[in-house]
Amino acid sequence: MAKLHFRYGAMGCGKTMQLLQVAFNYEERGHKVCVIKPKTDTKNGVKLLTRIGPERETDLCFGKEVNLYDVISQAFPHVACVLVDEAQFLTPKQADELMLVAVKLNIPVIAYGLRLNFRQDDGGFEGATRLLQIAHNIEELKTICECGKKATVNTRFLNGKLVTTGPDILIDDGTTDIQYRALCQDCFNKYKEKNKKFGA
Ligand SMILES: [Zn+2]
Repeated sequence: MAKLHFRYGAMGCGKTMQLLQVAFNYEERGHKVCVIKPKTDTKNGVKLLTRIGPERETDLCFGKEVNLYDVISQAFPHVACVLVDEAQFLTPKQADELMLVAVKLNIPVIAYGLRLNFRQDDGGFEGATRLLQIAHNIEELKTICECGKKATVNTRFLNGKLVTTGPDILIDDGTTDIQYRALCQDCFNKYKEKNKKFGA
């Protein structure tokens, strides 16, 4: 039986790069893959982009209403693997549908995503939560904080200042410098303390 895998990691740990590498490995051996991603309003659109260059079109960029089991069983029944980018934005139902793709269609599904959002304490991404509950296989992709320790916390900085409130997806309108940084818990706490000191 094929498995549903969830590979999670903080921002900048190379999730999309790894996804592209897996796709390449399959294709190099003559197998088809299906690369999919939830629709969000970011400027990346339907493409997968990486910080270090490689990019790729998706086979399917889907909204929250799409039944992934139905679409994959109809449009991509013979692929060797389904690869999901930005899997934190799945609905819980879509995560369950990917489980069916693995179990009923016998197609391995590898979902890449964040484990928790930048607000830290409001329940996070429901897609990631569901995947953590049901995936056969869960793997952490590691990355490094600016201090050199292991980074586990996703953070958002606006004009250089740490923020812990705001929507999941922020549209870049060109007026604010939006940065996502992966920090260790220590550095995250230090930035938070700094905010408090300056009354923010
Ligand atoms: Zn640190």
